[in-house]
Amino acid sequence: MQNMVILGATGSIGTSTLSVIAENPEAFNVFALVANTSVSKMAALCRLHQPQVAHMVDADAALQLKAQIADLPVEVTSGESALADLVTRAEVDTVMAAIVGAAGMAPTLAAVQAGKRVLLANKEALVMSGRLFIEAVATSGATLLPVDSEHNAIFQCLTKTAQQQLGRCDLPGAGISKILLTGSGGPFLHADLASLPSVTPAQAIKHPNWSMGPKISVDSATMMNKGLEYVEARWLFNAGIDQLQVVIHPQSVIHSMVQYQDGSVLAQLGNPDMRTPIAHCMAYPARIVSGVEPLDFFKVGQLSFCEPDFARFPCLKLAMTACREGQEATTVLNAANEIAVAHFLQGDIRFTDIAKVNEYCLEQVVQSPLDSIADILALDTEARVCARKALTLCH
Ligand code: NAD
Ligand code: MG
Repeated sequence: MQNMVILGATGSIGTSTLSVIAENPEAFNVFALVANTSVSKMAALCRLHQPQVAHMVDADAALQLKAQIADLPVEVTSGESALADLVTRAEVDTVMAAIVGAAGMAPTLAAVQAGKRVLLANKEALVMSGRLFIEAVATSGATLLPVDSEHNAIFQCLTKTAQQQLGRCDLPGAGISKILLTGSGGPFLHADLASLPSVTPAQAIKHPNWSMGPKISVDSATMMNKGLEYVEARWLFNAGIDQLQVVIHPQSVIHSMVQYQDGSVLAQLGNPDMRTPIAHCMAYPARIVSGVEPLDFFKVGQLSFCEPDFARFPCLKLAMTACREGQEATTVLNAANEIAVAHFLQGDIRFTDIAKVNEYCLEQVVQSPLDSIADILALDTEARVCARKALTLCH
């Protein structure tokens, strides 16, 4: 029986994780649920899953939750430092890291440092902390498993030795020449370029294949999501720039591929449903049911592929360039993008302004070296200040 903590329990990945746990109650126990402010959702989850601990990062939300579930034997906690304590408790075996954005970095790193089994959905945490994150995995002996569907697909196509050396694997030594990162191209793959400035938040979050939280849905529409995943792949698979290639695959049936030196290409396929990679990580190296329908090849019919168009997806290009420059640039880009996307969702800036804000910050922010988590957080804060300034230039 694995005792699990679910960071971001009220979100899209959190919901899918709880659904996989419900399919396999004999193997997994919900030890703690963590969210920020969604009190009524959290109260309903507590009634259904009866965790030992429910944690709301926001103190007011925790007080409200306490009142709503006073009849349940659930310990309610709150705050950021209590969250780091929670993930490191001795009873905890596995942590699902599914808080969205930079807010997930500290608790995810705390779980890594405590040597837990960490199922990583929160790509922003790895984009920001990169080398320090991978070093912490090596030092603590934590087991790191990638939940992001592309990285999970790549992981499944690796040799066992490479799987056991995540972050430090030797791709050429494993006979691997390239990692092929697939992406659907999102809702605007074929839209008229002239229509992009007037795209609404509702149109941007309507992904053709995946159902996800609002931030990652906008990132998928700009393809910043693929850019963040490019950086994520760089760290997880110790890949050089010439070992990473983005391939547009609109059907989202192949979730990514690994090309070997002998000409073989291994791919992982399945319906676009996050319960598959989540179940894979939860049970690894075993397999369990996830509740996902088997793939019907006759319904799929055709698989197609094309190269990304950087004029349509400038955010993808920015991320690939930042990845070449280094962790300072990707940390700046991630922070700027979080601000830009939040303001696009609020209706403050246009869809095409997201790339402009990101580019402005990459040019303006002085990128000091990152040798500690404090350095990373300071650069993240600086980039956010710059992004807020850039917002005013968009009008
Ligand atoms: P979501 O918006 O649906 O949920 C976010 C969760 O994070 C919520 O439970 C929310 O309470 C919590 N949260 C937000 N801010 C917080 C804070 N400051 N402190 C603590 N908790 C906070 O997001 P999602 O789509 O589930 O995505 C979560 C993460 O997983 C993201 O990093 C995303 O990139 C990654 N991911 C998601 C998918 C997907 O299909 N949804 C796929 C791959 C990777
Ligand atoms: Mg993904």
